Amino acid sequence: MKIYDEHLIRNGIRPSVQRLKIFEFLHKNHNHPTADNIYEALLPAIPTLSKTTVYNTLNRFVDKGLAVVVNIDEHEARYDANTSAHGHFKCISCGGFFDIHFPEPDIKLPKGFQAENYHLNIKGYCKVCNEKKNR
Ligand SMILES: [Zn+2]
Ligand SMILES: [Zn+2]
Repeated sequence: MKIYDEHLIRNGIRPSVQRLKIFEFLHKNHNHPTADNIYEALLPAIPTLSKTTVYNTLNRFVDKGLAVVVNIDEHEARYDANTSAHGHFKCISCGGFFDIHFPEPDIKLPKGFQAENYHLNIKGYCKVCNEKKNR
């Protein structure tokens, strides 16, 4: 828990118990949980937790660069504590969600523009579903 609270403090976030638990959960669950997933997982341990707190806390983490939000589906925001450059793949058959890695893209921005972040989101069929589909 110690590392997590220092990490929050260093990024200007007061480490309340709820924030710490949410941050810890994100770091221990690399399956890209939604705010609802996190709320349901933490509720037994923190009965006073509200969905609003979970949403606000996650948005705060994203604002501070401590997490990224992945919106492959516009009605489903998932959160990732891995803020290094990587893309995401969602299987349209089983709903599986995967990290994908790619080389630094060579994108020419208009002169004078500066990118802060970019996202690579792909939808398709995972290996298992693809094999089922082609059988
Ligand atoms: Zn699949
Ligand atoms: Zn990811």
